[in-house]
Amino acid sequence: MHASPLRVIVIGGVAGGMSAATRLRRLNETALITVLERGPYVSFANCGLPYHLSGTVGRDDLLLHTPDSLQTRFNLDVRVHHEALQIDRAARTVTGRQTLTGEPFTLPYDRLILSPGAHAVRPPIPGIERAFPLRTVPDLDRLKAAVDTAGPHVVVIGAGFIGVEAAENLRAAGRHVTLLEAGPQVLPPLDPELAALVHQELDRQGVHVATGAAVTRVTDTHVHLHSGACLPADVVVLAAGVRPSDQLARDAGLDVATGGGILVNDHLQTSDPLIYAVGDAILTRDALDQPAFVPLAWGANRQGRVAADHLMGRPASYGPHPATAIARIFTLTAGSTGLNERQVRAAGLTPTVIHTHPASHAGYYPGAQGLHLKLVFDAATGRIYGAQAVGGDGTDKRLDVLATALHAGVRADDLADLPLAYAPPYGSAKDPVNMLGYVAQNVMDGLTRPLQWHEALSSGRQLIDVRSADEYRRGHLPGAVNIPLDTLREQAPHLAPRVLVYCQVGQRGHTAALLLNQLGVDACTLSGGYLTWQAGQASLTPAAHP
Ligand code: NAD
Repeated sequence: MHASPLRVIVIGGVAGGMSAATRLRRLNETALITVLERGPYVSFANCGLPYHLSGTVGRDDLLLHTPDSLQTRFNLDVRVHHEALQIDRAARTVTGRQTLTGEPFTLPYDRLILSPGAHAVRPPIPGIERAFPLRTVPDLDRLKAAVDTAGPHVVVIGAGFIGVEAAENLRAAGRHVTLLEAGPQVLPPLDPELAALVHQELDRQGVHVATGAAVTRVTDTHVHLHSGACLPADVVVLAAGVRPSDQLARDAGLDVATGGGILVNDHLQTSDPLIYAVGDAILTRDALDQPAFVPLAWGANRQGRVAADHLMGRPASYGPHPATAIARIFTLTAGSTGLNERQVRAAGLTPTVIHTHPASHAGYYPGAQGLHLKLVFDAATGRIYGAQAVGGDGTDKRLDVLATALHAGVRADDLADLPLAYAPPYGSAKDPVNMLGYVAQNVMDGLTRPLQWHEALSSGRQLIDVRSADEYRRGHLPGAVNIPLDTLREQAPHLAPRVLVYCQVGQRGHTAALLLNQLGVDACTLSGGYLTWQAGQASLTPAAHP
């Protein structure tokens, strides 16, 4: 006698749910796999949605599969317009309704995979219902129709990833875009001195950015701010963050974190081992093994596969992972992996921080672009907590190498040992990632003592700018004296006993500090030099509404 086929229901048919369903099918040809999706589309590219606003990506190109194509290729029973409303764990059934007809349904399961995603936060602001979220294809259709028919003024609320990507694409489509951020900076995963570089690029490209902006009211024609400003708004985009869609799990009595997010074990099983959960609806663990809400596509895809593997009895787990995210902002790329400095400090740790500003490839080969890298690590053990990168060509490559290093447990000083690909059009014989390793090594060995941009003026040290007289004239730290590096040896006897030396990006400052320390002067360096200091200062000034 044959055992009856395994009945698996997947709730949610986008990244996590479809990864789970297709992997399951590859591992089990006989299972009855049903995918329930509330919306009209499954397996769509939700990370690609903003790029349709500029016409860069065609609408149909965002639809990667249809229920028919999934039936044909994977023999999946994909039911769109089917909303799951209740899970009866004792009876092992899912009940719900067809959203177009209202017709109820009840389906039995042996195993259940929840991938209901996350939903846009709608802050309690009068008139906010006029704002368009950008999470699904129907969201995109509504927003695009409004943008195409309304006037040119668009206000985007929230300067996280969706906000900046929407702003970039709407600007490319010729709209007047204002980006309003309640917090002090754009792109919250970055630390402020890196976010300031993104902010400057948005300014350069004609996106008006206001930070510390409290929206008080949205009317049919305007967005009002607490400051009294009133911005013309033919279209308003809602990008104020997302929350895990965990209500179904909560109602079913599954363990859900107080602050939101379905709790799962390393195999992605919920508190009911017959029910798995993946994607934006769950809490995972970050690089410090703390609970983390990481609504990113990479995790959803990886978790879908892990859940399917474990469900089929294969050894599979999803342990702590650094979150890695990246976005393009016009000519810049910006991203981060692991924890930023703020998060590490919030966890009660005291990290060491270094900044570098290398060129994307050998300076003598035409077309090199600037990169800005930040490494956050523990100087005693070399443990990397996180890294951030902003810049031109090759920013993504460096970020990915750093994400790999972080995930693999490579020490900060061992970044110097990574044998990275090199030819002049692509990098340098000492790649920017290797250079981070060299700098980390110097710090760990006690050869260099970096002070941060926010510590410089209160350090009590004499400030010495070792750049050229021309560079100094163009801008310097208040109170700094200019002693170009090549004249520093002669000047050493006349310096204060404790100094802070700096240059433009940190390299000459490093040479200067080693020289002075050997001549008996107690010299610290300024991490990332004048460039980081300036970006840090810019981050302290809230950008007012235009
Ligand atoms: P987010 O959490 O990244 O950013 C939301 C921003 O809105 C925050 O900066 C927050 O301070 C701000 N905000 C909240 N309330 C506000 C208000 N009333 N007025 C003004 N600003 C307000 O969220 P998101 O941009 O909606 O993106 C959702 C998730 O999707 C994020 O986790 C994001 O990382 C992810 N995502 C990633 C990418 C990528 O990696 N390229 C792209 C898109 C989305």
